[in-house]
Amino acid sequence: MNISILAVGTELLMGKTLNTNATELSKAINQLGHGVRYHLTIGDNPERLKQTLEFLLSVSDMVITTGGLGPTQDDLTKETIASVMDKKLVLDQKAHDMMLERFKSFNVKMTENNVIQSYLPENAIVMYNEKGTAPGFISENDGKYVAALPGPPREMRHMFEKSLKAFLKDKSQMAIVSEYINLFGIGESTAENKIDDIISEQTNPTIAIYANIGQVSLRVTASAENEEQAKELLEPTVQRIKDRLGDYIIGYGEKSIVDYTIEALMSHDLSLSLAESCTGGMIASEFVNFPGASNFFDRSYITYSNQAKEDMIGVSKTTLETYGAVSPETCREMVEGVYAQTGSDVCLAVTGIAGPSGGSEEKPVGLVYIGIKVKDQVTVKKYQFTGDRFVIRKRSLLSSMSMILNHIKSLY
Ligand code: ATP
Ligand code: MG
Repeated sequence: MNISILAVGTELLMGKTLNTNATELSKAINQLGHGVRYHLTIGDNPERLKQTLEFLLSVSDMVITTGGLGPTQDDLTKETIASVMDKKLVLDQKAHDMMLERFKSFNVKMTENNVIQSYLPENAIVMYNEKGTAPGFISENDGKYVAALPGPPREMRHMFEKSLKAFLKDKSQMAIVSEYINLFGIGESTAENKIDDIISEQTNPTIAIYANIGQVSLRVTASAENEEQAKELLEPTVQRIKDRLGDYIIGYGEKSIVDYTIEALMSHDLSLSLAESCTGGMIASEFVNFPGASNFFDRSYITYSNQAKEDMIGVSKTTLETYGAVSPETCREMVEGVYAQTGSDVCLAVTGIAGPSGGSEEKPVGLVYIGIKVKDQVTVKKYQFTGDRFVIRKRSLLSSMSMILNHIKSLY
């Protein structure tokens, strides 16, 4: 099917909310073997909703709306869809009862406004909401479908997984399978050059390159009648890419270098401590985002000033005065200091000039030293990054991850 996604909500047009529902849905729809025709966003305006729905239905087999299902005045999505699909709104008893239960469990009285939410287009497939109040639905008219999902991403995601996905799967005659190959330490264009011929030869599977700061990922996608066949189609192309880019591959699947680093630390049962100057806790935060961080993460010293470097991790005044805070000497003492304080299996320190000011001819903005101590071996590496303050700090973070990863790989 050709599917279009219509996001409803004035807050999206105001730039207050990022339309993550559209990207999430598109990804899932493509994986199910359907195509996405349009993404459109409109405000909470019934007239424009009507026009847009009519247009999208004229060019797609299905329109998925998100948002505007709630009990508030501006939530008119449902009424408008019913009118466009030429359906009456009828009470769905189960939706009503579920909502009543939900309100009871929160000890809140259900209002008239809420009751309205359980009126849905007649003959619709109801998608019950287990994460919120407003039910969704799939309405059909003349072989065209409109599916309405709630706006809050958490509710939308749950309803999609629970209800809409099975419906779409059923309607799909194709299986689409993707493999992600993640690279580190190589630029997007160099990676592309190395597999140029493979990319241009292929129609199924296809290869797409994505670059984020520091990490390049290749997505190889095959479509076939079923999943098994699609996987078989993928295999030889993935192998050819492995042969060409093997040295840069850090892993497969929808993962980032942070995921791989955490896996490496956990699988070898290694503890980790940090000293962060220019990254100011960014690396620690990245690790702490992971719910099981206490399994390996001990601490990070945010030693932004020279004084902090002296006080917290014992960097000597003489070193700081002789070589400066951004120097291999200071970086080495920072790592040794973290180790002396913590005894962690892996100790890492970062010091650099994130800019935009503070650079000099000798030490330009983007100069960063990263030091690591693993198994009594200290390595300090010099990096010269480009980009603005955020990018330099982000690159420092990613290079720190890669240093941890590579050292664990080579020493364990
Ligand atoms: P509610 O019952 O909460 O009113 P609803 O289905 O009416 O649900 P909206 O009122 O349109 O949904 O949106 C509720 C919130 O969900 C928005 O304030 C916004 O934070 C989030 N949201 C809505 N649409 C999107 C979207 N397309 N992408 C990401 N977040 C969204
Ligand atoms: Mg709402």
